[in-house]
Amino acid sequence: MTKPGQKITRRQALRNIGKTVAGLTVAPALNLSACSTAALDADVIVIGAGLSGLQAAIDLQDAGLDVLVLEASRRAGGRVFTRDDIPGHPEAGGSEIGSDYARVWNMIGRLGALDTVKWLEIADLRMAMHIDGQSIRMADWPGAAQNHLVGAERNALPIALTPIFMPAESPLRDLSSWLDADAQQYDIPLGDYLRNQGASDEALRLIAAQSPADNLNGVSALWKLRGNRFEKNGGGVQGLSRIKAGMSRLPEGMAGLLNREIRFGTEVVGVRTDKNRVEITDRSGATFRAAHAVCTLPLTMTRNIRFDPALPALQAEAFRETPQGHATSVFFHVKEPYWDVDGLPAGLWSDTMSGWVLRYHADEGHYLWVFKDGPNNARWRTMDDADIMRQAQADLQALRPSTVGRIEPTGVVNWSRHPWLMGGNAYRAPGNITRFGNITAQVHGRIHFAGVHTAVMMMGMEGAMESGERAALEILLRS
Ligand SMILES: Cc1cc2nc3c(=O)[nH]c(=O)nc-3n(C[C@H](O)[C@H](O)[C@H](O)COP(=O)(O)OP(=O)(O)OC[C@H]3O[C@@H](n4cnc5c(N)ncnc54)[C@H](O)[C@@H]3O)c2cc1C
Repeated sequence: MTKPGQKITRRQALRNIGKTVAGLTVAPALNLSACSTAALDADVIVIGAGLSGLQAAIDLQDAGLDVLVLEASRRAGGRVFTRDDIPGHPEAGGSEIGSDYARVWNMIGRLGALDTVKWLEIADLRMAMHIDGQSIRMADWPGAAQNHLVGAERNALPIALTPIFMPAESPLRDLSSWLDADAQQYDIPLGDYLRNQGASDEALRLIAAQSPADNLNGVSALWKLRGNRFEKNGGGVQGLSRIKAGMSRLPEGMAGLLNREIRFGTEVVGVRTDKNRVEITDRSGATFRAAHAVCTLPLTMTRNIRFDPALPALQAEAFRETPQGHATSVFFHVKEPYWDVDGLPAGLWSDTMSGWVLRYHADEGHYLWVFKDGPNNARWRTMDDADIMRQAQADLQALRPSTVGRIEPTGVVNWSRHPWLMGGNAYRAPGNITRFGNITAQVHGRIHFAGVHTAVMMMGMEGAMESGERAALEILLRS
């Protein structure tokens, strides 16, 4: 289902820079004649088959170039990952599609036959809060003894506290304004910013439990303002949708549009760029040559790539120092409705052990998604999957005794231990935006960079596709 008007928005954006990639109307200005094309494995090699790499590959192929995608793992999608092997087919990574995700909606339309559903039709957002060892209904929160918030804060749920300290009118004029010089005044510790905005100690404690960093002051307030600006643009949770058959159908469908099969199991370790071409080396020592490369690896992985010549010092520092958060999803099959036993909503938010617990409806019945990031995740980062499942079940039983015997763990995706991702979503620490701006996107010889961490306007899956489109355009516009 393509949203009315979405296509136009994207085309307009492309026309602004004088090209139409999706419409195949423009012959690339790329000068391949500088390279001896006979000795090349492809015109362009894309490293990584996440949404950014796939978008770049499709746009370049649409423009008439021969593209080869190298991917370390055995599947397309990267941080988009539907666990088809688990009852309910839960999503372990990117899944919620904003109403303003023009590129995602366009691709869904192009692939056809991908039905979508509103997220709120399958996810039950009602939850009990578990604070100071007590379960509290949302409606009872303002008057609860465990509510140690102050003044007007008391009426806000812990999960909705941050927005009340954000200015009603965002200081960021548009989606890309977070990179403007006058926004740098907000590139300060989030905790300090919220305190200046009137947040009490208790509000800061509860917000810290939801922070991507282990400490609230490890996140830049400007990054939070960017996120808020982005979320407002998307129309909030009401506007979110999912692909019914699983989000992985999107990258799989995109891979199917490529003329050449993705080379799975190819872990890139080195990239050399010279006047005429790029040469890419994988872990087995095999080399691949092309006129250009698009490197879409997450920050955690790009850090380990041997670039020859080395990246400029500031760009290398940005790859090294920009933090990549942690995220772990644990899934449970619900054998019996434990919420009927204790009379509380199925979902749960806790300031301590469990992070988020949401109930989903699926054809096979109900399942639970337990999600931890930030400080709540600290214990889980180094544990193996079996220990995480045991621990998550024990945590839940302690918080909600009614779950005993009524739920069973079905799977874990621990992004921090994923061999080719080693983390969840990137974020910016205080001062990081001022120091690095968007330097991770800077072209290095014949190497172009994409990946969600290089996106300027959008975030999440749409940001990944924006970055792939931008990298493709950079190559097409080279002369
Ligand atoms: C738990 C979680 C929930 C999320 N929820 C949402 C959501 O609801 N909505 C939303 O919009 N976004 C969401 N996101 C964010 C979204 O999933 C990502 O922004 C997006 O998928 C990133 O795409 P990418 O192409 O930039 O990177 P990736 O998907 O990480 O792709 C990088 C690829 O590079 C490969 N690779 C790594 N190293 C090498 C190497 N050395 N050689 C070759 N290949 C390599 C990896 O295997 C991977 O396939 C979520 C993310 C997480 C972790």
